[in-house]
Amino acid sequence: MSTVAAPPATKIPHFINGQWIDSQAIEWNDIVNPATAEVLGRVPLAGAAEVVRVIEAAAAAYPEWRRTPAEDRIQPLFKLKMLLEEHIDDVARIITQENGKTFTEAKGEMRRTIENVEVACGIPTMMQGNNLEDVARGIDEMMIRQPLGVVAAITPFNFPGMVPFWFLPYAIACGNSFILKPSERVPLTMKYVFELMERVGIPKGVVNLVNGGKEAVDTLLDHPAVRAISFVGSTPVAKYIYARAGATGKRAQCQGGAKNHVIVLPDADMQMATQIISDSAFGCAGQRCLAVSVAVTVGEAQKTFRDSITESAANLHVGNGLDEGVQMGPVITPQSKERIHNLIGVGAKDGAKVVIDGRNPKIAKYEAGNFVKPTVLDGVPAASELTNTEIFGPVLSLVHASGIDEAMEFLARSPYGNQASLFTSSGSAARRFRYEAPAGNIGINIGVAAPMAYFPFSGWKDSFFGILHAQGNDAIEFYTEKKIVVERWAKEHSRKF
Ligand code: NAD
Repeated sequence: MSTVAAPPATKIPHFINGQWIDSQAIEWNDIVNPATAEVLGRVPLAGAAEVVRVIEAAAAAYPEWRRTPAEDRIQPLFKLKMLLEEHIDDVARIITQENGKTFTEAKGEMRRTIENVEVACGIPTMMQGNNLEDVARGIDEMMIRQPLGVVAAITPFNFPGMVPFWFLPYAIACGNSFILKPSERVPLTMKYVFELMERVGIPKGVVNLVNGGKEAVDTLLDHPAVRAISFVGSTPVAKYIYARAGATGKRAQCQGGAKNHVIVLPDADMQMATQIISDSAFGCAGQRCLAVSVAVTVGEAQKTFRDSITESAANLHVGNGLDEGVQMGPVITPQSKERIHNLIGVGAKDGAKVVIDGRNPKIAKYEAGNFVKPTVLDGVPAASELTNTEIFGPVLSLVHASGIDEAMEFLARSPYGNQASLFTSSGSAARRFRYEAPAGNIGINIGVAAPMAYFPFSGWKDSFFGILHAQGNDAIEFYTEKKIVVERWAKEHSRKF
């Protein structure tokens, strides 16, 4: 990607204090359609001064917004829900163009986006505190929740619509002012959504959008007015942000990368397991943090599952996600494609059999796209570098275990703990798995165990740093501070009236 000044027509602005502002950034990146290599626009990498301006706008908007009654704060969200429903196809098209996932997948993502707006509309109930009269004679005690102030979210490329909305609706409904720093690889989706948000009556400075990379993030992390940081992205960056936010005294929730296992027991409905695991491993070109990456087969599932998943993977229609019938799109960048190619090579070198090789496919009409077709590696040795490396592409590794105990050991050894799934028809195996599997999101006969918006999006081990997760009640806990009030009123006083 080049970093020269952008022609004015294609510049992506920031949204600061209710206005679209052209960036004065020195560095700009191309925004590239991963299926066609077409340049869709140019995104600024904001310098510190621009980010400070955003923070100051958000800080100025906060006092009035926090005094706005909760009931009034959610009215714009009801309107936003309706606008997002009305424009769902438009947003989904933009997601497909800049991210590469299929139009159907992009629409599915937007359904999840809207769901978060719906849940945040419940803030007047969800944000309530609690109280107890007579904690001592004549003394009452209450816990009230108050917003934090300015909060910020830093989001990844793989869900340009949904991930920012794991945070935005809850943060503002709780009375905070909000700054979004979306992925510089997919800034067009939130530009469009913020244009919709301009129409719903959110006061100036309550929601702000700043485009940028590391310098923008570091400025948010270091500025004293920013009280909380929400992050979703790769594990090394999640760790870095968690540490730096801690050093500057901010609360932080940092969701990292993943390497998700599924165990397939021989008593599973093999047809259903194949269809669901295929969608999980290869859907969104494997660029989901809940994508199944390793299938651990037990007993005769080794052969039955390997044969059926191989057939399913070979038949997936790969192409431009906007074309009819396409089931899988490209990966995000040429660098990602190269990284995935190299990792498939590492698996093969370490002794895995490449049962289906998706490297360098020919996709008619889209020769310039970043395509990797579904790939299945059989028998990846435990010592291979691949075992603990997040591939983030359409590659499924197969390993075999003699029984469920050995299969569970694969999960226990993984540094990640985003999701673990089991396919079986045994209730007791399912219960044991739910009880013991060391991951935050568990799927039983489910391939992508994505929590609904009213549940927290969990994640354990190196997949999450923090305590409070995104979505649901955790979001309310994260975006509010508890205040305890202990009250006594002298009796004589009330007798005066
Ligand atoms: P990434 O870590 O490269 O980037 C995420 C964000 O961090 C972007 O906004 C980027 O600008 C910023 N960033 C990147 N490097 C930085 C640095 N050195 N300092 C400060 N900020 C920096 O992640 P990505 O490639 O956009 O997204 C893919 C990753 O996200 C995968 O690892 C995937 O598993 C993970 N992910 C996790 C979840 C989850 O819920 N755990 C959800 C979605 C994606």
